[in-house]
Amino acid sequence: MRALVFAAHPDDEVIAVGGTIRKLANAGAEIRLVHFSDGAEGYTTLDEKHTIVDLRRQETGQVCAILGIGSYTNLHLQDWNLQVGNSTYHAVIREIRTFKPDIVFTHTRADYHDHMTVHDVVTDGWFHAPLPCAMDLGPVWKYVPLYEFEVRQPISAPSLIVDVSDTFDAKVKAMQCYGSQLEHVGSIFQMMEGRAKERGYLGGGLYGEALLRTTFHPIPVRNVKDLMKA
Ligand SMILES: [Zn+2]
Repeated sequence: MRALVFAAHPDDEVIAVGGTIRKLANAGAEIRLVHFSDGAEGYTTLDEKHTIVDLRRQETGQVCAILGIGSYTNLHLQDWNLQVGNSTYHAVIREIRTFKPDIVFTHTRADYHDHMTVHDVVTDGWFHAPLPCAMDLGPVWKYVPLYEFEVRQPISAPSLIVDVSDTFDAKVKAMQCYGSQLEHVGSIFQMMEGRAKERGYLGGGLYGEALLRTTFHPIPVRNVKDLMKA
C-alpha cells in the first residue's frame, strides 16, 4: 500500500488526516508527503522571518517520525502565492507517476486560496496522470481513489469517516511539533478534539476524520468485488 498526501503548508496534513496517516503507517503502508509551500509567511516575529523555513522543515521531520511518513518533499513554492499552472500540474503528475500511489489525499476546495489552489492542481494532476500526456513526467499511472480532507472548513457531507480513536494521540503529538505555528492557528487543539469527536460520533467511534471522495472522474471497476469496498 502506498499513500500520497499533498498539502499546501507544513501542518495542514496533521490537522486534516494526521490520525489516518498514522493508521495507514501502522497497517504497513508506505506514506509520502508533499508540501507545496515551505511556509515562509509563518513567522510571528521579525527576528524569525529568516529562520522560519528552516524551523518548519525541522518540525516536519519530527512530524514524519511520529506519523510514520517515510518520504517527504517540499516543492518550495511561494507561501500565500500558490498558482494553478503548468509547473504545479507537472509537479503533481510527476509525483503520482513516480510514487505510484494506491490512494491520494489533498485539500477540499473550501478553504482559503493556497488550499483551494492545491485542491485544483492536485485534482487536475490526478486526472491527467493516467492519460498518455506529458510523457516526459514518467509512465502513466492508473486511477486510484482521490480523497479530499478538511483543514478549516468542515466537509458538509463526508463520503467516509476513518476511525482514528487509536491514533488520535499521535495526531496531537504531531501537531505539538509544529510549535512555530501554534500562535497562528489559535485554539487548534480544541478544534481538533471537537471535530474528531463529532466525526467519531458520525462514524461510531470515539475519534474520527472525515474524507470526501472526488467525483471529478469515476474510478473504473474491473472486478465487481471492488464495488463492496469502502
Ligand atoms: Zn495551510
